[in-house]
Amino acid sequence: MGRTPHQHQHPHGHDAGVLSVYRATFPSKADVIAGDQPIQPPVPCSEHLAALGCDTCFDRFDAQKPHCAFGLAGSCCRLCNMGPCRITAKSPVGVCGADADVIVARNLLRWVAAGVAAHAARGREVMLALKAAAEGRLDLPILGETKVRKTAAALGLADEPDLRKLAGALADVLLEDSGEGRSG
Ligand code: SF4
Repeated sequence: MGRTPHQHQHPHGHDAGVLSVYRATFPSKADVIAGDQPIQPPVPCSEHLAALGCDTCFDRFDAQKPHCAFGLAGSCCRLCNMGPCRITAKSPVGVCGADADVIVARNLLRWVAAGVAAHAARGREVMLALKAAAEGRLDLPILGETKVRKTAAALGLADEPDLRKLAGALADVLLEDSGEGRSG
């Protein structure tokens, strides 16, 4: 069943007043271009794209307003096919019995886990590149000697004058820690 456009005006389990205050902090594209926002506006780029008829995240952000109150409050759950479940005064728990606190906490933990996994995948590529460069399989200089030495020391590795050897040992420790294993 689709949502009605005015549903966010109805009483919910979340605090509509708090959400209104939060929503009011969302800058419009015009606000951003005016330059009175904490973020730096990419004005020339934005104007150039507008002249080409291309939209940007600022246009799309404006088009999404008003943002869904359930989404902002985190009190919407669609983890399983019994949902999506939304927490309201009339229905304070989802079909499975999860209340707003459980849904918010569970959503947050899953977002964090997904974010960590995504960044870990990029980190793994850096570790593999460092290992390959250290072993001479990748024709790349190892820059940031200070960072390599500080990180190695922080992880308890003995000092090694040869930067490549130390970088290789560091990559091994990092890969081992990430569950990759030393053969990776
Ligand atoms: S609240 Fe429970 S029943 Fe509803 S979508 Fe989430 S996991 Fe499924």
